[in-house]
Amino acid sequence: MNDNKPHYFEFDDQDVVLEVINLQKHFPIRRHASEVLAGAHPFVRAVDGVSFQLRRGEILGLVGESGCGKTTTGKMIMKLLEPTHGSLVFNGEDVTHTGKGSEIHYRRRVQMVFQDPYASMNPRFKVKDVLEEPLLIHKVGATKAERVQKIRAVMEKVKITPYEEYSERHPHMLSGGQRQRIATARTLILEPSVIVADEPVSMIDLSTRAEILHMMKTVQREMELSFLYITHDISTARYFTDRISVMYLGKIMEIGPSDSVIDQPMHPYSRALISAVCEPVPGKANELKVLPITGEIPSAAKIPAGCRFHTRCLEAMEVCKVAEPELLKVGKQHYAACWLNTDEETRRKSREQAVAQLESRAKTA
Ligand code: SF4
Repeated sequence: MNDNKPHYFEFDDQDVVLEVINLQKHFPIRRHASEVLAGAHPFVRAVDGVSFQLRRGEILGLVGESGCGKTTTGKMIMKLLEPTHGSLVFNGEDVTHTGKGSEIHYRRRVQMVFQDPYASMNPRFKVKDVLEEPLLIHKVGATKAERVQKIRAVMEKVKITPYEEYSERHPHMLSGGQRQRIATARTLILEPSVIVADEPVSMIDLSTRAEILHMMKTVQREMELSFLYITHDISTARYFTDRISVMYLGKIMEIGPSDSVIDQPMHPYSRALISAVCEPVPGKANELKVLPITGEIPSAAKIPAGCRFHTRCLEAMEVCKVAEPELLKVGKQHYAACWLNTDEETRRKSREQAVAQLESRAKTA
């Protein structure tokens, strides 16, 4: 077992299906003289130390702007990208660097729903072939009749019926919502423990988004699945998830129960994301004080020192420019990385320590 678990891992091992511990992905970039002079780091730190626990039967949201590292995190969990550092623990076993045999077993247990269902299917395959393919790869169902029975059952689960009609269609003969149902069915047919859903409804008409999320939530409950729901849309995350983690520039800024994070956000970035969501009740104003974010998201090749959000935060203090805040407990199972949640004395000491460290590093450089 990994001894370097973060202090905010509260859940017992037997309740947890997946642990992501200090996961990092740094992509090397070509270094030009101008970048060296500007102090640019020669790596894009797309994911810069992400840690969370995913419990059995839980839906955890990973929310943030484009480029915050949430999709890269999902790809590392799916083993589509090799982490630069950190570990993945699945059912108590470290699976970060496994051999091919164990990897196939892991891939069967951890499945992914992609953003674009059309691009994720072979256009020459009929629906029945799309759904049979994972069974053949993982050698599930000894006979054709057994496999057809499984395909029928999973199509009923995602409400694509009758089998005789839809199984003979090609992906282009389905609507966007039907395609995403088939993409979901393809993951469910292997009876996984975990599903990583990366923006599963962002390419679907607004009118069908709620239906698809409702279908996913129903099968998640029926099959007691764990879901990692990756999205930029905090309003659907509220409806769909049990807990939400808010990511910014490769790190988690806040994590906690969805109601708690949405109703009482303790990080200015979460507050800005939530306050930007329209209130669905006509005439009712969003009760959260609107906190606009200033400027653009900085480059992941040049992450600001101190709190990485300080260049855009209207509440930034002196300490924020030099010392990086840790995730601190701010409520029941609720953590936020912001100096506003500490007292003045802590901020003063942290700032002095950070300045002293910077000075000693400058002397030895
Ligand atoms: Fe803003 Fe400072 Fe909190 Fe960062 S630590 S979010 S800069 S107040």
